[in-house]
Parts: sequence; C-alpha cells; structure tokens
Amino acid sequence: KSFEDLKLSQPILEGLLRLNFQKPSKIQERALPLLLHNPPTNLIGQSQSGTGKTAAFVINILSRIDLSLQQPQALVLAPSRELARQIVGVIESMAVKMEGLKVFCAVPDPARPSRVNQHIVVGTPGTVVDMIRRRIINVSNMKVLVLDEADNMLDQQGLGDQCKRVKLSIPSHVQVTLFSATFPDEVLGFADIFAPKANKITL
Ligand code: AMP
Repeated sequence: KSFEDLKLSQPILEGLLRLNFQKPSKIQERALPLLLHNPPTNLIGQSQSGTGKTAAFVINILSRIDLSLQQPQALVLAPSRELARQIVGVIESMAVKMEGLKVFCAVPDPARPSRVNQHIVVGTPGTVVDMIRRRIINVSNMKVLVLDEADNMLDQQGLGDQCKRVKLSIPSHVQVTLFSATFPDEVLGFADIFAPKANKITL
C-alpha cells in the first residue's frame, strides 16, 4: 500500500515527499482508510508515540480543510503545550504545499486574538474551552476533532472533563478521532462518550 493508493491530494502527497515519508506506517495503513472515509466516522486508535499517529490524523485533517474558508475547521486537543506545539510543527511541515493554510496554537498565553480565523486549532483543553466559551473560536464550521494521548489527558486532574466540555460545545456531526497509547477501562469508558460509535484499531 502506498500513499498514492489512498487518493490523497497532490499538495499532501508533495508534503509527504518533502518529509521523506515513502510509505504509510502500520498505524497509517490501518487508520487512514477509516479516517478518510465519507461520510466520516469516528475512530479510536491505540498507538504509542513513534508509530506515526500524528501524521495519520494530520493527513486526515488536511484532506478535509477548505482553504478558501478562513474559519476553524479542525481542532486538536493535546495534554501539554509542548505536545501542542509539536503537532503544530508537524502540520506546518506537511502543509508546505497547501498555500495559505494557517494553524493557531491555543495554549495559555496572555496575548489572545479577538477571533481565530486560522483553519486548524491545536491546543490544550482548558484554553480551548475558554476560547470557545468566549466565542474567540467559532465552532460552527468544525469538521474534525482529535484528542491525542487520551491516557495522559485522563491522568491530569480536570483535563478529561474539559475535553468533554469541548465535545459538547461543537456540532454533533463532527468527526471525532481519539488516540491513546494504552486502553485501560478508564480510557475506554471516556472514549465511548467522546467518540461514540467509533471504529477501533489496536496495533
Ligand atoms: P509519531 O508517532 O506521530 O510521534 O511519529 C513518529 C515519527 O515517525 C516522527 O518523527 C515522524 O516524522 C515519523 N513518521 C511518521 N510517519 C512516517 C512515515 N510514513 N514514514 C517515515 N517516517 C514517518
């Protein structure tokens, strides 16, 4: 299986080439057909870091973005600002050929815009919830919600609840994708609420 077989857009294929990703990793090979399927379905994926899960959800996000619409269309929740910044870096490097694509990093920061008009928002749950509540992030054009490192998220006081609040504040048709390195009962119970009726993949 190649990236070409997945019918990715030319700019995404060129971005992958630039990164020197020659073929899909195991998780990408399993997750991408499910993620890219239309109509969109939810996905719960078990995957350690280092397996290529970031690229899997980023390829799906980039495939669903309408560049001509300057509104948030995808939202990625991460358990730390460092991870959020890393994910922004992966998106920006994969999207080099998607001219005009913009990403906003929603982490605790005294300087906040009055409106987010970037196509993708990557952030920590508390800041994202707050910016949605203040209508700084408009969720009405949202298509994809990703929760990365769900197990780490639930290990931190309050983060799971904030993720649930984000989920409740976005339109119910939004495609939800959740990744976790491990699937203890706590994570599985949470995933059932966060990403209902999801396809499940474990490596
Ligand atoms: P992640 O699991 O998302 O933390 O990614 C682990 C590493 O694998 C990152 O350094 C990526 O740049 C790299 N990577 C992801 N997908 C591929 C691929 N298809 N081919 C080669 N390297 C990849």
